[in-house]
Amino acid sequence: MTVIIDAHVHIFPPEIVLRRAEFCQRDRWFAQLYSNPRVRLATAEHLLASMNEAGIAVSIAAGFPWSDPGLCAYHNEYLAEAAQQSAGRIAWLATVVPHHPQAASEAERCFQRGASGVGELNADAQGFAWDEPEVLEGLVEVCVATRRPILAHVSEPLGHHYAGKGTAWPQRFVRFVERFPDVMVVAAHWGGGLPFYELMPEVAQATKNVHYDSAASTYLYRFRVFRLVVDLVGPQRVLFASDYPVLRQKRFVERVQTEGTLTASELRAVLSENAQRVYGLHLPFVEERHR
Ligand SMILES: [Zn+2]
Repeated sequence: MTVIIDAHVHIFPPEIVLRRAEFCQRDRWFAQLYSNPRVRLATAEHLLASMNEAGIAVSIAAGFPWSDPGLCAYHNEYLAEAAQQSAGRIAWLATVVPHHPQAASEAERCFQRGASGVGELNADAQGFAWDEPEVLEGLVEVCVATRRPILAHVSEPLGHHYAGKGTAWPQRFVRFVERFPDVMVVAAHWGGGLPFYELMPEVAQATKNVHYDSAASTYLYRFRVFRLVVDLVGPQRVLFASDYPVLRQKRFVERVQTEGTLTASELRAVLSENAQRVYGLHLPFVEERHR
């Protein structure tokens, strides 16, 4: 039996959920995504209920790409506590303003608190550019030294517009991985289409430490994307991720298993093994249950 891991979800402190209008005033990108009150915000409690319904053992929770380091630290504290109280079911990523002078030290502090990586970083939300990577050097060094990955929001340079899409296009993101080839990276949302360009040898060389997650997949792509990207980059570099609460975990994980046309061993890699390896997860409770 596969221990299913959702490698990219978002949760918020109840205070932010309750006072979202106030936080819309404080952060431009938050307002862009959440000023519509019908767009859902989830807490750790909501997430755990969803995981139980969907049969998901572990979720890797990100916060929000705040442009204020103080809000990042506040959100990180919530994630650390939620993870601590979850008996191993919630892993978490540290949010930092990556070009801020304190980004590296905040990331280190979070790693000591148990964070499995950094992200989801968002260039448009936070005011940096993937194709001007020099300012990210301090943060990258800490991630390389501690072998923690960076989850990056990467989006499509074409197709429909949506709130939060931004301009972190593959042609910009690839400049970052060319500059820092040793850092482990997860490019969210299928890397905005970057897998196709891995058919070019020089791109494949530059992206050898890049993984792709399926966050919000059905909102963007037809379901064939699972089969096609696994064929393009191999089953070891694709991570199942919902972007919950953007997608419902239960329906999405069921569709991946039934419509994804992946073999049993590919499914094990995509649904479980890759996330464990990339994010360095240790799942003693899970191993025990399935021994
Ligand atoms: Zn994203």
